Amino acid sequence: MKQPIFLRPLFQERIWGGTKLNEKYEYTIPSSQTGECWAISAHPHGQSVVASGEFSEKSLGELWEEQPELFGYFESNRFPLLTKILDANDDLSVQVHPDDDYANKFEKGEFGKTECWYIVDCDEGADIIFGHHAQSKEEFIRLVEEGNWERLLQRIKIKPGDFFYVPSGTIHALCKGTLVLETQQSSDTTYRVYDYNRRGQDGKLRELHLEKAIDVTTVPHTAAKVEPAIVKTTGGSITTFVEEDYFTVYKWEITNTLSLTQESYFTLVSVINGEGKMISEDNEYYIKYGDHFIIPHEMKSFKIEGQVQLIASQPNSKGERQHEVASTTRQVANV
Ligand code: ZN
Repeated sequence: MKQPIFLRPLFQERIWGGTKLNEKYEYTIPSSQTGECWAISAHPHGQSVVASGEFSEKSLGELWEEQPELFGYFESNRFPLLTKILDANDDLSVQVHPDDDYANKFEKGEFGKTECWYIVDCDEGADIIFGHHAQSKEEFIRLVEEGNWERLLQRIKIKPGDFFYVPSGTIHALCKGTLVLETQQSSDTTYRVYDYNRRGQDGKLRELHLEKAIDVTTVPHTAAKVEPAIVKTTGGSITTFVEEDYFTVYKWEITNTLSLTQESYFTLVSVINGEGKMISEDNEYYIKYGDHFIIPHEMKSFKIEGQVQLIASQPNSKGERQHEVASTTRQVANV
C-alpha cells in the first residue's frame, strides 16, 4: 500500500490535565482534566484506530499483526513506538521509567520506556524537571527520604521548539503550562518518586514506587546531549533531533513544497501546526494540525505542500533486537 494510514487518537484523563487538546487541536475530549492524547498507539491500555480507507476501524494492534508488510516486516511481536500529545495543565509527578531488561523481569514482559519530548507550546518561564544532583545512590536515597526535592531535582527552563531525549533511568517531570509531543517506546510503566503530596479522585495520596525508582535511576545523572541537525531547502527544512537505540525523531517544517523519501521500515507522523497536503503518486491528502498517520513501508517518496509543521519518527534496530529477546523469553515462559 502506498497511502498514508490516518489514525483516530484516544484520550486519557489525568489529575494534571486540562483543556488545551481541545483548544489547540479541536479534539473532542472527555473532560476538562484531559492530560493525554494517545495519537499513535497499539498499547493494550489504549489503541488508536484506523480512521478511513481499506483498513478502517481496525486497531493499530490488529493491523500490526495482520498486515506486517505495511511495516516492512519489522521484527517485533508488538508495535514498538507510541506517540502522545500531553497537556500539562499542572505539574506531573516526578518519575522514572525502567529499561527493557528490568521491565521484562518485573513488569510482566512490558517494554522499558525511553522517551523524548518536543515542546509544542509552553507558558513564559515554564520549566521541566530533568535529572538530579545526587552523586551516589546513598545520596540519592538520603535526599529522597528527607524529601529534599529542592536539593535533589534539576530544573531546566524551556521554550517552544525545544527537544529533550529522556532515556530510561532519567528522573523527569513535565511541569505546569506545557504542551508536548512525546515519542516513546510502547510502554506504560512509570515509577513515581514524588507527587507533591497530591490526592487522587478517591481522596487518597497517589501511590509512589520508591524502591523500584531507586533501582532503575541512573546515578549520577548523565544528560544525553541533543544536537539537532538541520537541512534547509527552498521548500522547508528537516531537523533530525535524535537518532538513538529505539527511534529517530525529525521535525519537518514545510514553507512551500518539500519532497521526502522514506528509507526506514515505516514512519509515524503527527501534524503539530498548520495545514497543507500530502502528495503521493497521483493521490492527494489534506492534512492539518492534530492529524496523525503512518507512512507504510512501500510509500517510498512523497511531497508535502503548505505551511505546516510535523513531527515524524521511525523505529530503530535496538528496539528490533530487544523485542526479539522479549518474545523469545515469553515463548519459553509459555512452555
Ligand atoms: Zn515519562
